[in-house]
Formats: sequence, structure tokens, C-alpha cells
Amino acid sequence: MPEGPAIAQLDLELRHIRKRYGDFVAVNDVSLQVGKGQFVCLLGPSGCGKTTTLRCVAGLEEPDAGDILIGGKEVTGEPPWKRDIAMMFQDFALFPHMTVARQVGFGLEMLKKPKAQIATRVAEVLKAFEIAHLAERRPSQLSGGQKQRVALARAMITEPRILLLDEPIGALDYSLRETVMLELKALQKRSGISFIWVTHDQNEAFSLGDHVVVMNHAKIEQQGAPDEVLSRPRTAFVAGFIQGNNVFEGRAGASRDGVLEVVTAAGLFRVPLLDLAAPAAGDALTFSVRAERLIENPGESILNRLTLRCVTVEYFGAFRRHVLEGAGGLIVKYDQFGALPPSMREGDEVTLGWAQDSGVLHRGPSA
Ligand code: ATP
Repeated sequence: MPEGPAIAQLDLELRHIRKRYGDFVAVNDVSLQVGKGQFVCLLGPSGCGKTTTLRCVAGLEEPDAGDILIGGKEVTGEPPWKRDIAMMFQDFALFPHMTVARQVGFGLEMLKKPKAQIATRVAEVLKAFEIAHLAERRPSQLSGGQKQRVALARAMITEPRILLLDEPIGALDYSLRETVMLELKALQKRSGISFIWVTHDQNEAFSLGDHVVVMNHAKIEQQGAPDEVLSRPRTAFVAGFIQGNNVFEGRAGASRDGVLEVVTAAGLFRVPLLDLAAPAAGDALTFSVRAERLIENPGESILNRLTLRCVTVEYFGAFRRHVLEGAGGLIVKYDQFGALPPSMREGDEVTLGWAQDSGVLHRGPSA
């Protein structure tokens, strides 16, 4: 069972969920605990089972095995409207012929709330989402960002315990996304509603989530606080999936004082074991080092070092990435942050190294 908050405070608990389509297993033994008002991001490549997991929580799919608890209450087998949830989809799924005001109030209409109460609440929510001026428009008369607000207002008006969001900003213009993300995060915290947000975009997952769940091939590979997943990828898949990691393959050598020697085609490196048991000598394994943890012209005390040739220098907004090549086709990424003048050019031969504690050993054999 994953570590997490006390059971009584959980908004959602998934216990060993499994979902098949024929012979194909789309979700395999997924367990997850979501504390009160948490922002959880399900992250992973296309087809890894994120949406199916979300649909199981919503009650749109019935898992073949496992239990789903919402607010401590077993809901497996209950229809969506009997779960304390709302859902928001990437295409927003707005009703084309309904005005914004009617769409936003729709959830309350379904709950058969008195008309006057619905009108008051809709007015409040339209104001809070800054869409009051759009009240009489239909979806075809709205921009992408406006549709997004309407869909969110519609989902949140019933104050569900959990809001399930499937790629909710995937359809938005890139320039809008950052602002929308900031707004959504603030809104989520104010509302106290737990968000379960599905994305394949790691920037979204790591900047929004209090808890990030990385999935691959229907299973959870790793889950935890964003900085923990970023700084300590537990598997070769997670390290390779997260941008900015160099993943090395090798075989276990000797271990001493909590440090393992790893023999790779590019040389011998030393990696801390931390809480992992030392693998048997000769076992295949992987470890990773973040691209920004590499050091140019390392001093003699740095034992992990490589001679490489700079192949390309790429400029990103906040950093400069160097792609370097080593013996046997080894490719290494080295990132420099800050406005330093370039220290190497394409074709230069350089020595890079890293402090021993920058290496992260992964669980299990190489992927
Ligand atoms: P994406 O990011 O592309 O939306 P995902 O991680 O959300 O991917 P899912 O939509 O959960 O992935 O799908 C997981 C796997 O299950 C995929 O291989 C998909 O083809 C398969 N799958 C999903 N729904 C069905 C279905 N109704 N029948 C058969 N296979 C399905």
C-alpha cells in the first residue's frame, strides 16, 4: 500500500484496480490514495492507462478487480451520479445549443434544485469565473479559453468532492496555458476540491501536482511529491521519461560503505545505494544523473568523469542544453542555467563529471 495520509481524511482510494478490454490489460493493479483537497496528476505516455483509470473513478468503466472508495465510502459498482465527483474533458464537452448560463447551472438542474436557488448560484459562479458577460452566448461564440472556463464552472458548481480532469488544457493555445495553469491551481486550493488531472505533459504535472503518479504499460511506476519524483526517479522508465536525465546502463561491481561501483561501456562510476540493497555483482542495472548536475572540468576529487565531444548546443528559454557524444555512441545531455557566456562549442572536446551523490540508482534491471 502506498504511503499516504490517514484513511479517514482520504478523498479517494483505489485498491488494486484492474481493467481489461478482452485480453488486453489497460489498468493493472493500480493503488492510489488521495488526501483531502489534493492536486494529483496522472502522468505517462499515450496509451498507458491514465484515462481508463480516471474513467473507473468516474464510474464510466467498471474495473474487473479492486475497490474504489470516495470519501471513505465504497463506490465500486455505483453509477457516476451517485459518486461525489464531476468530470471535465479535453474537448470540454459543452452542449452546443445551450447558453453559458444554462450550461453552468445544468448540474444543479439535474439535482432538481429550486429555480431561484439555481439562478442565484449561477450568477455567483459566472462572476467568480469572470464569464458573467458571456452568460447568453453559445459555445460556438466562445474562444478556447472562454470554453475552458465555462466547462470548469459547470463542473465545479455542484461542489463535488473530486474533480476529474482529462487533459483539460490540452486544447488550449500554448500561450494561454501558463496563465490558465496558475489560475486553476489557485482555484483548486481555494475550493478544497481534490483534482485528479490526467496529462502526458510533464511540465503540467510537475508544476501543478502535489502528488505525481507516473504510469507506464497500465501500471504505476512511481508516485510521490513532484520534487521527490524529479530528484529520485525509481526506475529507468521514469528517469528516461522525465526530461533532463542521463540514463546509464551497466553492471554491478563491488559495493562498499553504501556506494556501488557500476561498470559501463563508458567507464566505471560510483553511485550511492541509499535505501536500495546492493545488487549481486554482474547484475544489469541503470542509474541516472540530471543534465544540470554535470560539472565542467571537474576537480580531482570528482571520481565520476567522462571525456566527451560536444555535438550540438541548443538554446531553450531558461537554459542552454549541450548534447555530447562519448565512446561507444554514448550520448550525454548537459544543461547550463543562467546567463553565462557559452563555455563550449560544437566540436569541442570536454571533460564532464558529477559529484557522487548526484547519481541515482534505479530499482530493478535495465528496461
Ligand atoms: P492517452 O494519453 O493517449 O489518452 P491513456 O494513458 O489515457 O492514453 P487509455 O485511454 O487509458 O490511455 O488507454 C489505455 C489502453 O487501453 C490503450 O492501449 C487503449 O487503446 C486501450 N483501450 C482504452 N479503451 C478501450 C476500449 N474501450 N476497448 C479496447 N481498448 C481500449
